[in-house]
Amino acid sequence: MPKRPEEIIRSEILALKAYHVPDSRGMVKLDAMENPYPLPEALRASVARIAGEAALNRYPDSTGADVKTRLRAAFGIPAGMDLLLGNGSDELIQVLALAVARPGAVVLGLEPSFVMFRMISTFTGARYIGVDLREDFQLDAERVLAAIDEHQPALTFIAYPNNPTGNLFDEALVTRIIEAAPGIVVLDEAYHAFAGRSFIGSLQRYPNLLVMRTVSKVGLAGLRLGVLAGSGAWLRELAKVCLPYNVNTLTQLVASEVLRHDDVLTDQASAIKLERGRLTRELGELPGITAYPSDANFVLFRTTSNAERVFDGLKKRGVLIKSLHGSHRLLANCLRVTVGTPDENAAFLAALAQTIA
Ligand code: PMP
Repeated sequence: MPKRPEEIIRSEILALKAYHVPDSRGMVKLDAMENPYPLPEALRASVARIAGEAALNRYPDSTGADVKTRLRAAFGIPAGMDLLLGNGSDELIQVLALAVARPGAVVLGLEPSFVMFRMISTFTGARYIGVDLREDFQLDAERVLAAIDEHQPALTFIAYPNNPTGNLFDEALVTRIIEAAPGIVVLDEAYHAFAGRSFIGSLQRYPNLLVMRTVSKVGLAGLRLGVLAGSGAWLRELAKVCLPYNVNTLTQLVASEVLRHDDVLTDQASAIKLERGRLTRELGELPGITAYPSDANFVLFRTTSNAERVFDGLKKRGVLIKSLHGSHRLLANCLRVTVGTPDENAAFLAALAQTIA
């Protein structure tokens, strides 16, 4: 008699809720921090040609040498630092957690932050400890330092800027954490293009620091390409945990081509930052809405109405955003909207005004 899933699957997995991706067909899609702009026609044509000529009968280049060269230039990776590529930064989070997850190993994260830090730690059997941010979403340095002292984390994740709050943390406080942590500290700079600040220049100073980036938020979410930068001593060990050929041929070729013209992505990020300012201002002018300042390509806001009802009202009007109500006590009645095109943002603001009226 074969056993049922409940008898075989680990209890901590049975207890998890799957990462939910809602159906967005036909919606104004402002839920996932994607860049709303397509690539220019000429670049799309060269991408099509390159894809057509790709040797798809062969396995991908396992070194990713060409795309790494482009990423080094685009992201300003300091000399002497190595890169590890992932199938999105999600895979790199998994590689990190898998590599450190000896029995009892602790992964430290801040709360609220990107949910995959906690979920992936759980997948790998590591013990996840979340330390709450302050009410103003800043780092509570004393609390984090006390948690580091108590739990001696093998791995600490800091999203900079943070998702879903959108803010950068105080640089001096982050530095104190890097200096105090006994294990790896990962600065997840997924939203770097919209923030302008970075710890990439600190890599040479702190041997336990790794900086993670992704091409997802700057216009290439469909490619699935993340990158971890840091010293070879760490990355060589982490590479052993990656699946062979984890970054496919089309992703490598297309990313290389687009990054060769990365001024396109930089210009699009500038347009998004401009729109972010307008969106934040106009959101804050709506009755009962508090919009929080953002250094990313999304804006967190709180409503005096019920956030779930606001979410449903927007959805009924064809606009998909993300409700964070119920995910953390600091996010009561909070929602997160990705910065879209001017038209998408106008559609969102109009739908929101109608919903809360
Ligand atoms: N880090 C943060 C902070 C994120 O918000 C996200 C995506 N929501 C990711 C990593 C994952 O990005 P990728 O598409 O590279 O897997």
